[in-house]
Amino acid sequence: MSAWDYEVIIIGGGPAGLTAGLYAGRARLQALLVEKLIHGGQMMTTDLIENYSGFPEGISGPELSDRMRQQAERFGLEIVTGEVKALEPGDGGHAVVLEDRTLKAGAVIIATGARYRRLGVPGEETFTGKGVSFCATCDGALYRDQEIAMIGGGDSALSETLFLARFAKKIHLIHRRDEFRGAKYLQERVLGLDQVQVHWNTVVEEFQGDDLGLQALRIKNVKSGGIAVLPVAGAFVAIGISPNTEWLKGLLPLDRGGFILTDENMATQIPGIFAVGDVRAKKLRQIATAVGDGATAAISAEHYLQDLKQK
Ligand code: NAP
Repeated sequence: MSAWDYEVIIIGGGPAGLTAGLYAGRARLQALLVEKLIHGGQMMTTDLIENYSGFPEGISGPELSDRMRQQAERFGLEIVTGEVKALEPGDGGHAVVLEDRTLKAGAVIIATGARYRRLGVPGEETFTGKGVSFCATCDGALYRDQEIAMIGGGDSALSETLFLARFAKKIHLIHRRDEFRGAKYLQERVLGLDQVQVHWNTVVEEFQGDDLGLQALRIKNVKSGGIAVLPVAGAFVAIGISPNTEWLKGLLPLDRGGFILTDENMATQIPGIFAVGDVRAKKLRQIATAVGDGATAAISAEHYLQDLKQK
């Protein structure tokens, strides 16, 4: 046990990782959280969070993230910046391999989250950062009084359309089916906006533009086969997320989408390795469910370490 650098290492600093850190700290576990960039995860690109209980007026993503970090640090969580390259399980503890050093822990909690999916059509890469964006909160204000598009039909596309409606003159909301996937409440608000035009059963075939950036989208109605060209200055893609699990290199069983399989205690198939938040296979990916995962995993890790000590 003395060979461990930490009792628990948490990989990833979104709401699931920070809450795991808070609960680990309160359990008086010696815990380290490793975060690649800045803590907060996808919360950092969310302008206003209205569905996290306890904040009736909503709270900005960065502020909620900062509050979570402060709370976890108050109870002893250590946070460092670094990229985890691999995880090497072992009987005497698990090795967390960073770029410059390897740390050993009795338990590891994986909270590496997920990233934006791409459409994979011509022009998407070329115009990313020049009109094509995956973050309305980051880039929405660039399109004041302009015509833009949002692609997707889930909670992200709908909530980001509501945000973009503060700036844009017109928003083309492009969805591949005739029904949204996102919450009914968001649907009602989006469909009530005058400047939103929904293109049902429609896919983007190409992002078009020149050296200055995006100028238009070529879209196709999948029912009629009809093609149209929409003149837009910006296009936001919100078609879901892919889990950040490649670095695990096949270590753990994943579901078809690449998300880590766990039991209800957040345990993976390898004893002492847990997974929480968006990277985990589950139905609902929300801050509320991420923090629940984090709390559960920290307590599961505590029990696991107690059992180890008694052996
Ligand atoms: P999502 O729920 O997976 O929705 C993705 C949307 O993009 C779906 O409408 C899907 O169409 C469409 N899509 C997927 N691949 C596509 C493709 N290749 N071409 C065209 N359209 C495509 O993803 P999300 O909206 O990012 O949400 C991810 C998770 O975060 C969800 O669990 C969500 O509840 C949560 N979230 C919640 C909030 C909130 O509560 N305010 C905000 C953001 C995210 P189909 O419907 O046809 O599959």
